[in-house]
Amino acid sequence: MTKRIAIIRGDGIGPEIIAQALAVLDKVAEKFGHTFNYTEAPMGGEAIDLFNDPLPKSSLDTCLNSDSVLLSAVGGPKWDNVSKELRPERGLLRLRAGLGLYANLRPARLFDELRDASPLKSSIIDNGIDFVVVRELIGGAYFGEHTTEKRDGEDYAQDIMGYSEHEIERIAHVAFQTAQKRQKKVCSVDKANVLDSSKLWRKVVTRVAENYPDVILSHMYVDNCAMQLVRSPSQFDVIVTENLFGDILSDEASMITGSIGMIPSSSLGDGTRGLYEPIHGSAPDIAGQDKANPIGMILSTAMMLRYSFDMPKEADAIELAVDKFLKEGFRTGDAMSEGKTLLGCCDTGRAICAKI
Ligand code: NAD
Repeated sequence: MTKRIAIIRGDGIGPEIIAQALAVLDKVAEKFGHTFNYTEAPMGGEAIDLFNDPLPKSSLDTCLNSDSVLLSAVGGPKWDNVSKELRPERGLLRLRAGLGLYANLRPARLFDELRDASPLKSSIIDNGIDFVVVRELIGGAYFGEHTTEKRDGEDYAQDIMGYSEHEIERIAHVAFQTAQKRQKKVCSVDKANVLDSSKLWRKVVTRVAENYPDVILSHMYVDNCAMQLVRSPSQFDVIVTENLFGDILSDEASMITGSIGMIPSSSLGDGTRGLYEPIHGSAPDIAGQDKANPIGMILSTAMMLRYSFDMPKEADAIELAVDKFLKEGFRTGDAMSEGKTLLGCCDTGRAICAKI
């Protein structure tokens, strides 16, 4: 098969980790007889420097004309003081909206080999951690109106959090369909005791559930969910929630599984094209030092092969290579523990390629 992939090299550690992910993809292409054609689409800090725009039209067009998009991470202190519209994150929000990617899937799985890296007690993680957060990505407070004005002589700021029925419906379908391929349990997280947008969320998710009688639906308030994630994470299979709650809960979920450098994510819309990226940022503190963990980026390519290209064997090959790498005791600095062998970003990529 031949596929066109848009590549956003990103900022900070971005170029280092994406180079390793592309080496892994090239290895998969060679082994399984595919052709992956890459086209660069500058976004974030790099695009601000080149085009004074965090998402130039040419980059969005490249992404729209590709079968899928691979992104490392964008941003860094260099662009912290640019105007709101020019910030690197703005490019990311515009890209998600431009591609119509409303569902963000973040798996949280505790690798057996990394049990020591979890901050939770072993009695809590004995039953394992293996769930997916399905986060609504282009609605809610991040996309509502943001205003700051003077009221009664002082600054007053507000951000509008709103959802329409169809926005909730489509993300609920993604959650139930994801659960059907897993343990068939969906926990919908909201704040329906306070927020109108959450009351509507709960009503619509409950209605959509009627289409999936094989899936068990439960509801949980977001504050309770934040607590349950550290008290008893094994109870979860699929968590579905709105944009802001999902942003916070999925970071918490990544932390309890060990290193933030290990976790991939996918953002999907109505078609098969997706945006695949690790969940971490551009880690400017370790950029250019060959210290970054490329595994979250590499596992993002596996998700792309599985969800956008329908290449499950190829995805399995990458995930198995990562499992083997960890089982043999290799670690990057962020996941290092006693008795393990420390490798840099390039050697980690090379070792994983060799295991495919
Ligand atoms: P971060 O995720 O970049 O870093 C947090 C900590 O985790 C740092 O100590 C970093 O060294 C470490 N870390 C992150 N990824 C790692 C990896 N792959 N290997 C080893 N260690 C890793 O978060 P931050 O410091 O809050 O943000 C840095 C920049 O990234 C900011 O400009 C922020 O806006 C941006 N950011 C971008 C995205 C994105 O592109 N999706 C997401 C979050 C943050």
